[in-house]
Amino acid sequence: MSAPNFLHELTGSMSQGAAGNPTVAMIEAAFAHHGLHWRYVNTEVEPAALADAVRGAKAMGFRGWNVSMPHKVSVIPLLDGLGASAQLIGAVNCVVRRDGRFIGENTDGKGFLTSLLTVADPRGQHVVMLGAGGAARACAVELALAGARKITIVNRAESRGRELVQVLAGLAEAELVVWQGDFPVPADAAILVNGTSIGLYDDTACPPVALDSLRRGLVVADVIFSPAEPRLLREAAARGCTILDGLGMLVNQGATALRYWTGLDPDTAVMRRALRAALGV
Ligand code: NDP
Repeated sequence: MSAPNFLHELTGSMSQGAAGNPTVAMIEAAFAHHGLHWRYVNTEVEPAALADAVRGAKAMGFRGWNVSMPHKVSVIPLLDGLGASAQLIGAVNCVVRRDGRFIGENTDGKGFLTSLLTVADPRGQHVVMLGAGGAARACAVELALAGARKITIVNRAESRGRELVQVLAGLAEAELVVWQGDFPVPADAAILVNGTSIGLYDDTACPPVALDSLRRGLVVADVIFSPAEPRLLREAAARGCTILDGLGMLVNQGATALRYWTGLDPDTAVMRRALRAALGV
């Protein structure tokens, strides 16, 4: 690693609340591991100050930054352009400086897809997505772009579910099931994704699915990253399903961002270790 000096390349995260901190640990671990004299700083930005913060990041020469809730949509008019999937998803979680312009990307869904491809290829498959919020939307768009044949959106609020089905139309066969009671996973589905917030920081919560429809051979993925093995995944593993945790998505969305910012292919094992230590999972 080069000697410390003040000429850091700056990247960072604009968030509200402390949620960015495990990300700081993960990204800075990658910088250190690869000998990059870069810094990643977490800044708390109130919604009313977002435009000033974006101008400041440009003035200070930031190479890029993450953006988390509640800024993922409101940041869009403040940027100079959008990548293709961020445009479709309608939300940005990562900004990249390209030729002096701030371009909004969405790496959540790309991180999910990279993680999923370690266990299953969605091409030609029927995928069931529980939820239609920001995370589910990002994952569903990338699944459709990756060639999923059919995507069933299962969501409690009909309006949000319908909006996502409309986004997916033309990319894949998409249908909405308004969530009532325990959802039975259709026999022809190959992949089930929990894209809801059910189970976050709660070891006992499980999205309402008919547990007897979780069968051997089904891939069950979760966006929840803490606990590392949420109850849905434990129930699925007990029934012979292949399971995929949300840590893989979180690591790979960060790795995708690092690739955009630095051009480097980061060591995801180092990032995962740092993230687990920071989250205590
Ligand atoms: P949103 O608030 O945008 O969406 C939440 C979704 O969960 C909605 O579809 C909502 O349904 C559904 N939901 C919440 N509670 C219930 C319930 N009791 N019953 C049925 N449905 C419910 O959140 P995000 O999409 O931004 O985040 C979702 C989760 O994904 C969070 O836990 C977040 O931490 C995680 N996440 C993980 C990432 C990773 O890299 N692993 C990256 C980004 C997010 P409705 O529309 O009906 O309200």
